[in-house]
This record gives sequence, C-alpha cells and structure tokens, in this order.
Amino acid sequence: MLKQIIFLISLLITLGVFTWTVSRLISYFRLTRKGFPVKSLGKRFMVMLRVAIGQTKIFRRPVIGLFHALVFWGFCVILFGSIEMVIDGLSGSEKALRFLGPVHNFIMASGDIFGLVVAVSILIFLSRRLFFHIARFEGIEMKKRSHIDAAVALSLIFLLMVSLLLMNIGYVGYRNATGEEIAGIYPVTGILAGLLKGTSATTFRIIYEASWWSHILLIFFFANYLPYSKHFHVFMSVPNVFLSRLEPLGKLKTMESITNEVKLMMDPSTAFAAAPEGTTPERFGVKDAEDVIWKNYFDSLSCTECGRCTSVCPANITGKKLSPRKIMMDLRARMREKGPLMVANGRAYTDNKSLLRDYITEEELWACTTCNACAKECPIKYQSTFCYCRHEALPCS
Ligand code: SF4
Ligand code: SF4
Repeated sequence: MLKQIIFLISLLITLGVFTWTVSRLISYFRLTRKGFPVKSLGKRFMVMLRVAIGQTKIFRRPVIGLFHALVFWGFCVILFGSIEMVIDGLSGSEKALRFLGPVHNFIMASGDIFGLVVAVSILIFLSRRLFFHIARFEGIEMKKRSHIDAAVALSLIFLLMVSLLLMNIGYVGYRNATGEEIAGIYPVTGILAGLLKGTSATTFRIIYEASWWSHILLIFFFANYLPYSKHFHVFMSVPNVFLSRLEPLGKLKTMESITNEVKLMMDPSTAFAAAPEGTTPERFGVKDAEDVIWKNYFDSLSCTECGRCTSVCPANITGKKLSPRKIMMDLRARMREKGPLMVANGRAYTDNKSLLRDYITEEELWACTTCNACAKECPIKYQSTFCYCRHEALPCS
C-alpha cells in the first residue's frame, strides 16, 4: 500500500508539472497567427505512417539513420511496458497485462530486445557527439547549452535502458530462484539472469525493486525534461509530420490584402484616390515571434537540431551566414523570451526587440535561394518558415 501511495504522489507531481508546461506552450500558440487549416486527414495519416512511423526520411543517411530508426521503434515498443508499469504502480499488481497472453509475451520480448538495441545505439550517438566532432553538429547556433542538452538527454535515455534491462534481470532471476511462473518472454535478460546463477532470490528482488523505481522515476523526470530540450521532438515529431504541408514545397500563397492593394493601384479610377477610412492593410509579414503561423512555431518546437537542413543548404555550404537550423532555434528562443511577457502584459507588449534583426539578420534572410533543400531533407518535415519570413516580413519590419 505504501508503494502505491508513493507511486500515486510521484505520478500526480509528474502530471501536474507536465500540464503546467503544456498550458504555457498553449498560451504561446495562442499568440501566433491562424492559417494553415488541417484538411485531408486520410492523406496526412498516410504521410505520418510513411515518414514518422516508417522513418523514411531518416534513411537518407542509411547507417546512422538505421540506428535512429531502431531507437524510435524501440521507444514505441517500450512504451507499452511503461503503461503496464503505471498500472502496476497504481494497483499494486505485478505484470498486470499478463492476461493478454501471447500479445504480452510479444511486447515483453520486443521491449527486452529493444532495451539492448537502444542502449547500444545511444552509446554510438553519444560517442559521435563527444569524440568524433561531426560537422553537422557544429555551427554558430550550436552553443555550449545545445551540446550539454543533447548529452544529458542521451544519457537519460541510456540510463532508462540500463534500468529496464536490470529490472528484467531482477524479475527473471527472482522468479527462477523461487520457481514462480514468469509472465512474458525475456530473450536478452533471460540469458543475463542465467549467468548470475547462484545469486539469492532476495538479491534478485532488491535488483528488481530498485531498478523498477529507478526506471519509472526516470520516465517521470524525462517526460518533464523533454519540453525544455531539443529532445522534445520525441513528443512533437509524429504530430508535426501529420500536420506537415501537403502541397509542393515551393508553393507560396498570395496575401489577399496585398493583392487588393496592388489591384487598387493598377486601377486608374482608384490609384490616386485617398484610401477609404478603415481600409489600412492589416499587419502582415513576420517581424517577431507572434507573427508566424502556429504551424511554424510547432515546427520550431519539433526541431531536433540535427542540422540535416543546414548541411544541404547551398547558402551555408558556400560560406554565407545563413543556417536554416538557426532560424528554427531563433524562433523558439524568441518565443521563450517574449511569450511569457506577452501572456502577462497583453499582446501589445513590446520589449523593443524583434525576431528579425535582433535574432535573425537581413544578411541571413537574403542569403536564402528558396530552393527548399532544407525542407526536403528535414526528418520532421518542417515547412521552410523563413522563406515566408523573407517574402512577408521585410516590408513591415
Ligand atoms: S531554402 Fe534557403 S535555407 Fe533552405 S536550403 Fe535553400 S537556401 Fe538554404
Ligand atoms: S529543421 Fe529539421 S533538419 Fe533542420 S535541424 Fe531541425 S529537425 Fe533537423
């Protein structure tokens, strides 16, 4: 009973902090512009299956892409085991989903294998970042904070996998030692527990309990760390792909108010007439974070900072200041800076700074060729925010 009470308190704290974070993000979304209606749900679902679940864009770099895809699929499988842990924690049961029989066996076996696969993949990712200095992970926008964040998030995932494997070893070892029935199949940790023959049932039980708590508390902590990390893409990338643009990448939409202005200017009967009262064109373009449409902000929160966009950007490759990854990170940072102040003081609030010029310079914007190579390469299918920026922003900034 004590275990259940402690678990319930931990779960409520986790959900409380997470809800607070999400409500803050929603209030920032409310500051952005509408537009980009979400239609063609069936088509979107298919894109999501192919790009997000099938990880097809990631395989453009086949070797490291395979490891990333394995981590993603591993997360999906391990999620089922985590749901069972929450049920166990609340109800005081052990392996509550065992009644699913073969399905439960399959989930446990996949989780056990993926636990090892993900741990190995994360070690490869960490060593690439720490020892190999991959060019894609460098750039003016990649400050020390970004590197620390990546290392912390990867280390947390590694610890999650280690605690999962230890938990399974403890479970299988304890059940073997006491002769009790084992719920599920454990191909990897079954072998490892066998190597520890001679260990007492009590020791296995301690390993199980300690790693069970470590694993679930790490999950709770990780869930609340993610929204403040580049690894927020763990939550955001799948919906972002679902919401991605279905039209051709280079297609730009005409701005109605400007079209009307031009038409009036071209018409001899109205070209020199004073504009009727109340017909001042509304603010258009992107000057600051609140001027982007909600989907652009969604993109920036989903950005993994992988640098695939920058690595194919012809402007960046030929030595220009522009880095599309920086544009995404700038939008996110600017909203983090101005969003809370606008929420507290109203939409009209100004801190006399702006996304354009204080974060993104004109030199960066005008270096863009609008080739869309960045958007084509991006694994989370962002729509090139700042092509819009350049087209729409400068006239009003
Ligand atoms: S659209 Fe602009 S930012 Fe994107 S790859 Fe082309 S030049 Fe670079
Ligand atoms: S915009 Fe896309 S490609 Fe560029 S860093 Fe972010 S996730 Fe990677």
